[in-house]
Amino acid sequence: MSFNYQDIRKDFPILDQTVNNRPWVYFDNAATAQRPLPVLEKISEFSVKTNANIHRGTHTHAIKTTEAYEVARDIVKDFLHAGEREEIIFTHGTTESINLVARSFCEKFVSEGDEIIVTEMEHHANIVPWQMACERHHAILKILPFADNGELKTELLESLISVHTRIIALTHVSNTLGTVNPVKELIRIAHLHNVPVLIDGAQSVPHISIDVQDLDCDFFAFSGHKIYGPTGIGVLYGKRKWLESMPPFLGGGEMIDRVTFEKTTYAEIPLKFEAGTPHYVGAIAMGTAIQYLQNIGLPTIAEYEHQLLKYATGKLKALGNVRIFGESDSKSAVICFELDQIHPFDLGTLLDQLGIAVRTGRLCADPVMDHYNVSAMTRASFSFYNTMEEVDRFIEALTRIRSMF
Ligand code: PMP
Repeated sequence: MSFNYQDIRKDFPILDQTVNNRPWVYFDNAATAQRPLPVLEKISEFSVKTNANIHRGTHTHAIKTTEAYEVARDIVKDFLHAGEREEIIFTHGTTESINLVARSFCEKFVSEGDEIIVTEMEHHANIVPWQMACERHHAILKILPFADNGELKTELLESLISVHTRIIALTHVSNTLGTVNPVKELIRIAHLHNVPVLIDGAQSVPHISIDVQDLDCDFFAFSGHKIYGPTGIGVLYGKRKWLESMPPFLGGGEMIDRVTFEKTTYAEIPLKFEAGTPHYVGAIAMGTAIQYLQNIGLPTIAEYEHQLLKYATGKLKALGNVRIFGESDSKSAVICFELDQIHPFDLGTLLDQLGIAVRTGRLCADPVMDHYNVSAMTRASFSFYNTMEEVDRFIEALTRIRSMF
């Protein structure tokens, strides 16, 4: 590990507290990541000193805020290796980004009898908007299944695609199984049939360097709060050709060229898709979060988190009578598991009593629960600010909880 762990940890003062009289262990990073001081300082700086609405005023602070917002767009463009800054749309998060495409793309390109493909391992955010689109346009939703080890049955994709397929939406990394899907290959197959692909990158951007041009994806969505930035801000990358041909998603200020009661014309991208006052402080601070990650280096982060994953998986298995959901060799630092058939809600509550925060429930992935025929799961998800010692405490806590049952 080539980063100074003590320095990193100092950047996250929230981690330095006790919960239920024990040093807090935060293993719920896949739900939301904590924010480092530079991000908090940036939020504060723009809230305390410089607040002014963007793209409107000619006064000093309006100009300064607008510039910072547009610099954030450039940071995101470079982060995703997008070809053009206009291909970066600020949204409220992954959910809104996917809804934008499901609404606008489908309005233009989907009609009765057409087909949309998603996978069985999607978060609800990448299922429900497509189901809603199918209802609106009388289209059909088709599902690419996964095997019990948590890997997509990629060999079935080709047989699911037909002349009626209009778009494929799939997750880069599963929020339950941790599987890193071979998206580049799946996109290649889809493109052989001229079918565009949306990648849900909510769980991949914190761990994997993204190059949308190399992946050749048509759309890519992610949220600021999962990459150590603020909540309420996210990104949709879209290829220019699609964004230009899609109708606007929301109507209102800033997304227009000229409004008359007879006819309104729309702004060029990206503003066409940024109606109303955006969460500009969020966008600016998300830019800072991205720079923070880039300073450490995503390959360094990925390598360290992989060590945490391996260590925690080994220790969990050594407990015996543990079922791990998702055992792909290509996996990010997420472990969903079951211990002795203790109900996840009991397990989560007791872990919290011991100062350890994990996620329990259906994880916004009902089809994954149905696949394994379980009502809920317990999920531990790791970040570069977590430690092997914290994993040890987690394992000790599980041993203690088990002895209570
Ligand atoms: N997709 C995946 C894979 C996720 O993990 C999440 C967040 N749990 C989302 C989409 C939705 O993200 P948000 O709630 O930030 O819109």
